[in-house]
Amino acid sequence: MPEGHTLHRLARLHQRRFAGAPVAVSSPQGRFSDSAAAVDGRVLRRTSVWGKHLFHHYVGGPIVHVHLGLYGTFTEWARSADTPLPEPVGQVRMRMVGAEYGTDLRGPTVCEVIDEGQVSDVVARLGPDPLRNDADPAWAWARIAKSRRPIGALLMDQTVIAGVGNVYRSELLFRHRIDPYRTGQRISDAEFNAAWTDLVALMKIGLRGGKIIVVHPEHDHGPPSYRPGRPRTYVYRRAGEPCRVCGATIHTATLDGRNVFWCPTCQV
Ligand SMILES: [Zn+2]
Repeated sequence: MPEGHTLHRLARLHQRRFAGAPVAVSSPQGRFSDSAAAVDGRVLRRTSVWGKHLFHHYVGGPIVHVHLGLYGTFTEWARSADTPLPEPVGQVRMRMVGAEYGTDLRGPTVCEVIDEGQVSDVVARLGPDPLRNDADPAWAWARIAKSRRPIGALLMDQTVIAGVGNVYRSELLFRHRIDPYRTGQRISDAEFNAAWTDLVALMKIGLRGGKIIVVHPEHDHGPPSYRPGRPRTYVYRRAGEPCRVCGATIHTATLDGRNVFWCPTCQV
């Protein structure tokens, strides 16, 4: 599942590609046709993100709300006025066509047209987004400090912090030597503050470069990444392999339905 930095990158891309001009919006697949008609031909005013929720704000008020879920993707293409649009491939829920670019959305969990009030309802259910300038970490800390749930579960709970996914969750806890099964109540405020500051910095690196880079330069050697072409991780998808810091075997377990990874020696 894409993590928050991916949504912020998409919002910036869509802003560059489409904002300030009319956008032809359609639903080749048909499932979004009625809603697409409500924004088709309108000028895209701006884009915004909160956590993993992407919003396209159109002139006149309608807002397209997208959540990619596990499988959603946008595919972009360049175009010119004198060449025909590419045939939709697969189940294209929403197609956006501007003067120079088009993009096809496939497989989202949510793709709907809503109004400002409904955007507020969505956002009201979300914790602070580390990549937003208005993020208030005190709000997340208040939830974590009184919780008996494991910190590894709290970090993935979008109502606590919005935008963190499986990679940042496992890697952040490793970088701060925190066992994912330690409860929120047993996290100190110094630990939370250091982890939040680090999370903001790491997600900004992800936002700038499009890759999740979490390994300190002095540890960036030894066993390769979990997948060719990806940056190394400390623990994510490294179960059974040696810890890059202490050599102990990395563990994995299922926590709230998602695999968490950690070093049983480094993390307490
Ligand atoms: Zn270790």
